[in-house]
Amino acid sequence: MRHVAIIGSGPAGYYSAEALQKNYGDEVRVDLIDRMPVPYGLIRFGVAPDHQSIKGVYKRYEKVALSDNVRFCGNVLVGRDVSIAELLELYDAVIIATGAPDDRALDLPGSDLPGVIGSAAFVGWYNGHPEFADLDPPLDVEAAAVIGNGNVALDVTRILAKSPAEFVGSDIVAHAFAALGNSAIRDIYVLGRRGPHQIAMTPKELGELGHLEDAVPQVDPADFPPELDDALLEPGQRKSVTHLRSFATLERGARRKTMHFDFFAKPIRIEGEGRVERLIVEKTKLDERQAAVATGETYAIPCGLVVTCIGYRTPPIESVPYEVDRGRFANSDGVIGEGLYCVGWARRGPTGTIGTNRPDGYGVAEKIAADFPPGGRKEGRSGLDRLLESRGVDLVTFRDWQRIEAAEAARAREGSPREKFVAIGDMLGARGR
Ligand code: NAP
Repeated sequence: MRHVAIIGSGPAGYYSAEALQKNYGDEVRVDLIDRMPVPYGLIRFGVAPDHQSIKGVYKRYEKVALSDNVRFCGNVLVGRDVSIAELLELYDAVIIATGAPDDRALDLPGSDLPGVIGSAAFVGWYNGHPEFADLDPPLDVEAAAVIGNGNVALDVTRILAKSPAEFVGSDIVAHAFAALGNSAIRDIYVLGRRGPHQIAMTPKELGELGHLEDAVPQVDPADFPPELDDALLEPGQRKSVTHLRSFATLERGARRKTMHFDFFAKPIRIEGEGRVERLIVEKTKLDERQAAVATGETYAIPCGLVVTCIGYRTPPIESVPYEVDRGRFANSDGVIGEGLYCVGWARRGPTGTIGTNRPDGYGVAEKIAADFPPGGRKEGRSGLDRLLESRGVDLVTFRDWQRIEAAEAARAREGSPREKFVAIGDMLGARGR
């Protein structure tokens, strides 16, 4: 028997559990530990609520969770309830799959003003993450700036731009649905410090912006290189750029909101009296390495909300080697040290789609097989249970989660698959015991 603890029950955690289970069947026992009383990490708290088809991948994780040799241990915080050293004592292998839930900071003068919000916080707010329930973003303003040209910037822009009717079928939480419904925002500026050819937005997600009920995307054709140059792009990127170009020909019709794409626009300062009032941007041009170079020309964007979507970081864990500049654990091909591994964004940094985490899981399962032949002497889950009980930890099982999930489905408003509990106490209470 091999005993494995996985920290984090998001995509990287579940793909690792799936790989261990597929490869070793009855010869492995996996404990998936999560600080939340609910599973699935990024799927629940990160993927946009109106992207239910992407969220649907949880069904695959559910199959893994329901197998006998994998168990969910929710409401357990590693570092507070149990240490890495203790886990390494109890399990043959420990896999860190904690994702990258913290914001990369935008280090600019004024970035501490009220109204400047990181995407982790903003996305967490509309997705019902307990830590961000009280965020209360300023939506009583006419304009917002979204900094970054990746898919998270697209998510944030779309959520700010959608009409209430467009959230039918989503699982956006009630507080965000109500606040966005009353939003005064009419102009959303999406800022890229480089040009249209350098965006990190995928075609499907970008294309969506062209079909919103009450908002229209706007680009300046002068920002684009000659159309012939698009042929040099890889096909996915070419498709994205084609969408962008097509935005120049869209008719506004009766749509009231505008999503302005400002390229070659590098934020340099945020100004305001006691809250954000404007963002100061410097125009850039590209050098021969396609890096943004300042031109000295600046302009101001009046706005009362700034959402920074410039990437994420993995939170460090005490005693685990960490690369501060890359915001991830120091590792060699997923190996941190003896018996300690990492997968997903905790290993690679925040890049790639959900499926990109799958090979990580399979890779680590093979490494564990090579490093730890079956027949070890570790105690595994009974040891963890004893330790957590002695510390009074209220362990949440997968069965508990199923009760929470049923209660969320029962609370759902019309057209929504669930109404998530936001407070940890409400999640725990919904177990009904
Ligand atoms: P990302 O794809 O790395 O994009 C980050 C963006 O921030 C880039 O445009 C980058 O510009 C810009 N940026 C970085 N530092 C900046 C600064 N100091 N000032 C101005 N701009 C700055 O990150 P992400 O959008 O957070 O997405 C993370 C991952 O999740 C990606 O792999 C993404 O595809 C994935 N994701 C996928 C979906 C989906 O499939 N639906 C949804 C959300 C996220 P430069 O290029 O100039 O550095």
